[in-house]
Amino acid sequence: MQKIKKGDTVQVIAGNDLGVQGEVKEVKKGYDPSRRGRPARRNPNKDRVVVSGVRMVKKHQRPVSQTRTQTGIIEFEAPIHISNVMLVCPSCGEPTRVKIEIADGVKQRVCKRCGATID
Ligand SMILES: [Zn+2]
Repeated sequence: MQKIKKGDTVQVIAGNDLGVQGEVKEVKKGYDPSRRGRPARRNPNKDRVVVSGVRMVKKHQRPVSQTRTQTGIIEFEAPIHISNVMLVCPSCGEPTRVKIEIADGVKQRVCKRCGATID
C-alpha cells in the first residue's frame, strides 16, 4: 500500500521548494504497463510524484503535428522523488509520517502524529 496517493496534500521537505505545500497530481509507478511480460527497463520516474506548484520547469515545445496543442515555451511541474515529500494530515494539518494499520481486514493509513485515520 502506498503512503502517498493522488489528491493528497503534501509538504516538500527538501530542495528548492522546501516547505511548500501542494496537491499530488500524479504518482509515478515503478513499472511500465506497456512492457508487461518483457524485461523491465530502468525507469527514472520510479517512485516520483508530481505536486501542483512544486518544481516548475520551462520547456521549449516545438510544434510537430496537429495533435500537439501546447507549443512555444510551456511551464509545468516536473516530478520529484516521493522521499522528498511528507503527507499533510487532513485532521491535524501537520506534515506527518504514515503508519499502515489493518482494521477488519482492510488496510488503512494512520497519522503517526495524531492517530487519525486518513481516508
Ligand atoms: Zn494527524
